[in-house]
Parts: sequence; C-alpha cells; structure tokens
Amino acid sequence: MEYHHIPREPLGFFPTPLIELTRLSHALGGPTIFMKRDDQTGLALGGNKTRKLEFIIGDALAKGADTIITAGAAQSNHCRQTAAAAASLGLECHLVLGGQAPAAANGNLLLDQIFGCHIHWAGAHRKGEDIPQLVEQLTNAGKNVYVVPYGGSSELGALAFVEAFKELEAQRSEIHETFTHIVFASSSGGTQAGLMLGNRLFDSPSQIMGINIDKGETDQIPFDEYTLALANRTAELIGADHQFTAADLCLNDDYVGDGYGVVGALENEAIALTAQTEGILLDPVYTGRAMGGLIDMIRTGKIKHTDRVLFWHTGGAPALFAYANDLRI
Ligand SMILES: *Cc1c(COP(=O)(O)O)cnc(C)c1O
Repeated sequence: MEYHHIPREPLGFFPTPLIELTRLSHALGGPTIFMKRDDQTGLALGGNKTRKLEFIIGDALAKGADTIITAGAAQSNHCRQTAAAAASLGLECHLVLGGQAPAAANGNLLLDQIFGCHIHWAGAHRKGEDIPQLVEQLTNAGKNVYVVPYGGSSELGALAFVEAFKELEAQRSEIHETFTHIVFASSSGGTQAGLMLGNRLFDSPSQIMGINIDKGETDQIPFDEYTLALANRTAELIGADHQFTAADLCLNDDYVGDGYGVVGALENEAIALTAQTEGILLDPVYTGRAMGGLIDMIRTGKIKHTDRVLFWHTGGAPALFAYANDLRI
C-alpha cells in the first residue's frame, strides 16, 4: 500500500490518548474497556472529523481552492470542525445546514458563527441536497470552490482512519494489549470503512463494530452497502489488494431508537454513567448512543465479561449544550 504522496494538511494533535476506563468497567462488572480519545484531537474542541479533514483539506489546497462548502445537521460536529479548519487556513467557508435558523445559536452552531462561516438554512435537506446550486452561484462569482463530502466520508476521509488504526496499533502493542472489539458510532461511514481496512491491513483480530446512529431514511443507497463500497474504494485508492464482502461488515442497527438526534433513556444513562465514573463527556447524538449500545451488549451478554473492548470516542460534546432540554440527568 502506498499513499504517502497524498497531500495532508496538519490540523490536529496526534496521537490522541489511549486510556483504560477501570471505574466504568467495574460499574458494569467487566469487561476491560479502553477508550481512544478522538474527542481530544485539538481542533476547535476536537472530534473524529479532524482526522478526515487533514486529507480532505490537503486535497482542497492542492487543487487551489479558496472556498469550502459542506453540509450537515444544525448541530453537526463535522461542520464545526470544517469551519475551524477553513478559518485556520484563510479559506472562505459555507455551511448548508438542515432545519431553520433558531432564535438563538448554541452548541456547535454557536461555534460555527464564531468561526465566521456563511450559514445557509436548508429545511429538510440536511445532507447537502442544496449544494449544487450554491456551487454554481459561488463559481459564477469567481470563487474556486471545493465541496467537502457529507460527514467527510470520501475515500480520503476513510484513509484518515486507516492512519488512525495505525496510530492505535502502535499504542496497543506498546502495552501488549489485544482488543476483541472496537466499538464506535457510525453515521456517514468513513470512520467504519477506514477502521475495517486498517484492521485488515494490520492483520488485527478485533471485531470492528459500528453502532448505527441514523436511520438513513433519506439515503439513496442503504448505509451498509455504502460503507462496504467505501471500504473497497479506499482499498483501491491505496493499492491494497482487499475486497470486502457483506460478511465483513459489522454494523449494529439495534440502537437507532426514534432516529437521528432523538435522545432517549439509552443515551441519558450512558452519558451519566461515563461522566460519573470517569469524568468523561460523551455527546447526545453519537457517542452517547454508541456507549449506550455497548452497555446494553455487555448486560445482555453479547459482549462477554472476559472480552477486552476499545470504545473509540469520536467527539461531539459541544452539542450537549444545545440538547440541554432533552437530557434527563
Ligand atoms: C461524524 C461523527 C461520527 C460518525 O462518524 P462517520 O465517519 O461519519 O460514520 C461519530 N461521532 C461523532 C461525534 C461525529 O461527529
């Protein structure tokens, strides 16, 4: 595999810490639980999109872009980190956000405003359906526009998680640890595709288990097919001779509840337990749901007390403030 010619713009602080959560593990009666702290990537309160943006913004700069567009939900962590990356490089940034402008901005949206980006409200179109018109408009105005894909989940975004897996491998082997499962929130597929490929390239025995966050009812192709295809395209990008099939994908749909961003008892308990045993903040949309899923799989015996689990913390805590009225803690 050869990808060191692919441009990469440094945006975060790496490696992120790998820590053991002994008090959370004890509260659950086992298993051993480690956490990869990608909530600490350093860019504008951190998160997994920082890794993806290093490759995606690297590509934008190589193509001479002066204007960045991306899309997401009003509380998108991806949009917040993109806005910060653009600001740090003097690029103009446009965000196409689902919903309507709220009376007062909070959480990630407040941070988007602080980073000085242009916000376009798109109603029900939270996945960038309105981007083509905006590209045309900005191009006609003389801008050199680069569109960052939804959630940063292109081959370049997934490649960042092959690199992240390599980073984890170095930390893991130093402490002579082996993980039976790597559990994380999955929603646009880049994190999962990259970790799957990394796991394969490093001959790791871990099960890469994404917890599906989003029902994906507006997607054109089912999320599992999308993620598999992305893993295969990423393998191709770096010349790795791997073909994944449906049997290689572990995407758990059991915890989508009432859909994207709808906080229930599962998320509330996971956020409270992790905060109160470890002093670590999860978020209401992604990591709260993924940790809730992990806790449930431990309680129902799908993950055994003798297993050794890595929970990949993908960030998101800035959204807690915007969800203050939905949290019951
Ligand atoms: C975007 C995001 C995810 C999901 O990562 P994907 O690569 O889009 O699947 C998980 N957690 C947080 C906090 C995120 O912002």
